[in-house]
Amino acid sequence: MRPSHVFNHPLVWAALVALIACIWLPDPSLRLAAVVMVMVGLGSHWRRCSQDQEHAGLMQQALMLSEEGVQITDADYRIQAVNPAFTRITGYTEDEVRGLNAANLAAARHDTAFFKRFWQTLQNKGRWEGEIWNRRKQGDEFPEWLRIKAVTNHRGRITHYVGTFTDISVHKAREQDLRRIGFEDPLTGLPNRRRLHDLMTSRLRHLRAGESLDMAIIDIDGFKAVNDSLGVEHGDRLLTRFAQRLARHVAGGVVGRLGGDEFLVIRTTTFDDHENWIEGLRQHLGEPFEVGSKTMRLGVSIGSCRAPEDGKDSGVLFQRLESALYTAKRHGRNVSQRFRPALDVSNEPHMALVSSLRDALAAGNQLELFYQTQHRIRDGAVVGLEALLRWRHPEHGMVSPGDFIPLAERHGLMGPLGNWVINEAVAQMARWREQGFPELPVWINISAIQMFQGELETALATALARHDIQPALLGLELTESVLLDERAGDIVPRLEALQAKGHRIAIDDFGMGYSSLSYLKHLPLDKLKLDRAFIHSLPGDAADAAIVGAVLAMARGLGLGVVAEGVETQGQLDFLQQAGCELVQGFLYARPAPAAAIEARWQAMASAQTPPLVPVPSTS
Ligand code: C2E
Ligand code: CA
Ligand code: CA
Repeated sequence: MRPSHVFNHPLVWAALVALIACIWLPDPSLRLAAVVMVMVGLGSHWRRCSQDQEHAGLMQQALMLSEEGVQITDADYRIQAVNPAFTRITGYTEDEVRGLNAANLAAARHDTAFFKRFWQTLQNKGRWEGEIWNRRKQGDEFPEWLRIKAVTNHRGRITHYVGTFTDISVHKAREQDLRRIGFEDPLTGLPNRRRLHDLMTSRLRHLRAGESLDMAIIDIDGFKAVNDSLGVEHGDRLLTRFAQRLARHVAGGVVGRLGGDEFLVIRTTTFDDHENWIEGLRQHLGEPFEVGSKTMRLGVSIGSCRAPEDGKDSGVLFQRLESALYTAKRHGRNVSQRFRPALDVSNEPHMALVSSLRDALAAGNQLELFYQTQHRIRDGAVVGLEALLRWRHPEHGMVSPGDFIPLAERHGLMGPLGNWVINEAVAQMARWREQGFPELPVWINISAIQMFQGELETALATALARHDIQPALLGLELTESVLLDERAGDIVPRLEALQAKGHRIAIDDFGMGYSSLSYLKHLPLDKLKLDRAFIHSLPGDAADAAIVGAVLAMARGLGLGVVAEGVETQGQLDFLQQAGCELVQGFLYARPAPAAAIEARWQAMASAQTPPLVPVPSTS
């Protein structure tokens, strides 16, 4: 008990007065009363002291148990006491660090400006929190999350600093792993599509006068047949060899894998010999490959272009490379095609489809939304629905959204198409409410184009108001590429505004390798949807299992829900449940189905009064 506290206690004052009174009071009975007062005062003080001691003992126990490292320093930042977690994390015992300036434990990673800000904040605000690198006794450096608070005496002067910290090196390593996964093709170790966009942009930016970029997409002819005849393992090996050979040939340039059997190469050059360069590539790749006991030659189709002549923007150049490759492939095997303006999107054979899509939008009756249920693994309960767009073409029958959505995006139809989806989904929710069906959140997919054009917010608000539906019931799924597309402007405030209105926001196809974790942390998100490509080979594939595990752990750390997509087997479900995933979507539970089929299921459930037939995790 500090002296100031002793005198805060009224009984102690009474005892002191009584003590003085003892000397002056003439009457023995009064003196006796005073002595009793002194005794009572002292007793109360003693009780108070022992209570405080007990309290301090318990606090000590808590510190001993804490998983966080704790350090207490004096006003000069010299260590006075540490707890066992401190020793566990740093390797130093209390005896080794007592009296040492805590700043001596910092790794030499921070500059003086960092420490200046650190002390300024601590002096002005009385506390500091952040990431700081320290050195362990064993010599290695590690990042910790440090919270530090200045303790003052009754005059407001700082007497001590109390700091608590967690070792975040494991978390950091995982973040780095995920970032690497995000930018690197796991099979070949080459840059992936996302990274290639960045690399192309940076090469374009650094072009000097007289320099050009030659670039080519290379696609192996008939790779699927090779893969089928050799088996996937040898197919993978062939891709790796192909990648290595390409990388050696374009030394100093950029080589990456766009996916499957498609590779991209870029070189910066002052020569004007595009056609020769392509021929050189072709010859080099035409040399035989040895796989297993076989030797084989591969044919390649090449789409190419040259910057700045054919474009100055990586998005445009990618599109032009792809249309050149598309044309090359239509001309048969082993063909190279340089981009020509005549190959531009407006001349594509898809134009007929585009114009019938335009008609479909106007007529309205060829478009439909299917719904796929999302389930809680624990009990199979339906927790939401994803709306998926369907187009019944009068001649071609059902056209997959995977085919017509990219077309709509390229030909200016995505805005109206997206608005049609919003209106239809909200109108359907209103119809279900009228029919007395359960009010479940419906998630819709939002295309990048809807974000750029900026009408999304208005379309959502109008539809919701018209049908009197709460925004909380309409979730938005955005892919990682949308979030990172600069054309969408600063996406964070827009997402925040949508979330403030009540919408929930999910990142779709997560893990396909776009975003860095540090970026994700700043986004207002509610959910991640784990891409079905990662679920497909579970539980057998160790790499996918590791990625899924890491994503789940990271999502937990960020407080995000996770929905695993494309769950088709009980084995996948069991794995996911064990890895801590709570929500799933996939054929194992239900395929996307028309609204009427969803209604029929609800009606059957209501009349049978039984839970829906859903798989139940075999372990629990
Ligand atoms: P997505 O958003 O990733 O949608 C999930 C896709 O996975 C759907 O394909 C669904 O049918 C399929 N799927 C669900 N469970 C399983 C499963 O267990 N196994 C397998 N193999 N597949 C499963 P769908 O309907 O063909 O849609 C393809 C993509 O088209 C969607 O991918 C989404 O990106 C896009 N899309 C669909 N509707 C819309 C829409 O209204 N607006 C926008 N912008 N995009 C849409
Ligand atoms: Ca989706
Ligand atoms: Ca998805």
